[in-house]
Amino acid sequence: MKEFELIEQYFQQQKLSWCNSHINLSIGDDCAVLDIPSQQQLCISMDTLIEDVHFPKDAKPFDIATRALCVTLSDLAAMGATPIGFTLGITLPEANPSWLNNFSQGLADMAQRYQCPLMGGDTTKGPILVITIQVHGVVEKGCALTRSGACVGDKVYVSGNMGDGGGALPIVLADPALKKAESVCPLTQHFYKPLPQIEFAQSLIGVASACLDVSDGLVQDLNHICKKSGVGIELNASKVPLSAALVALYGREQALQYALSGGDDYQLAYTAAHCENGICVGQVVAGNEVSILDGELLAAGFQHF
Ligand code: ADP
Ligand code: MG
Repeated sequence: MKEFELIEQYFQQQKLSWCNSHINLSIGDDCAVLDIPSQQQLCISMDTLIEDVHFPKDAKPFDIATRALCVTLSDLAAMGATPIGFTLGITLPEANPSWLNNFSQGLADMAQRYQCPLMGGDTTKGPILVITIQVHGVVEKGCALTRSGACVGDKVYVSGNMGDGGGALPIVLADPALKKAESVCPLTQHFYKPLPQIEFAQSLIGVASACLDVSDGLVQDLNHICKKSGVGIELNASKVPLSAALVALYGREQALQYALSGGDDYQLAYTAAHCENGICVGQVVAGNEVSILDGELLAAGFQHF
């Protein structure tokens, strides 16, 4: 299959690649052309996923696609941005029609859900599967939720359960003992479809003083807010929400370990003087790093991993 045939057949489909009010010209020319109204700003973020590093090589192509687009869109969510479109760089060892068909269906599924069409990219042949997605979104001028505005006295919130991403990893890597357990399903679903908190984040504009998406573990990511905002954070570990599935599978202590340091959660963590939405897990204090307020947990030997 020729490169341009592949692009036309799998990527330039109406349900995956359409024009919207921001996309003037999409796949098929040398560049995509975007309209950005003068009162808006463009937010851009990129993620690369490599086979057997960020997903198992033999994972379903549909799942690989949903994961790739979700994790990238999560960065737009973290800024409070509205998606307008994405570009895709893909390196393929071979052009397998069934694989490509399922992969493009996974992309289309998420593209439709978040109204974020594919508008260009680059397709190459290479030794291993590598997927790079760049998402483009818009915010009203000056309204992007950054990491740098947290103030002493603010509260710290998360948008949902923590730890499912970290807890999913051993299952996704197919530990046979864990795979049998019935409660694993929601966790693997979360791994392959970590739905970005786009709408939730938009409700935080004008409310949150700092915000990010939790991709590397709650403690490590909150430390980014500390650094950028010049503050400390006291984290009440016992208030961090855990899914029933995670606790059922690992027990509370291990579940909390995943919640604090597991990564791959793609929920939002943010600070605000006061917020009706989300779960309060701590407070912003003078200082320069996260400290965990929970003697029991520390006694149990909390480790960053
Ligand atoms: P050029 O040779 O001018 O760089 P290409 O042949 O690489 O252009 O791409 C032709 C068109 O197909 C361009 O509009 C490009 O954005 C699009 N395209 C290429 N690969 C992809 C892809 N993986 N996903 C979406 N669009 C793609
Ligand atoms: Mg060209």
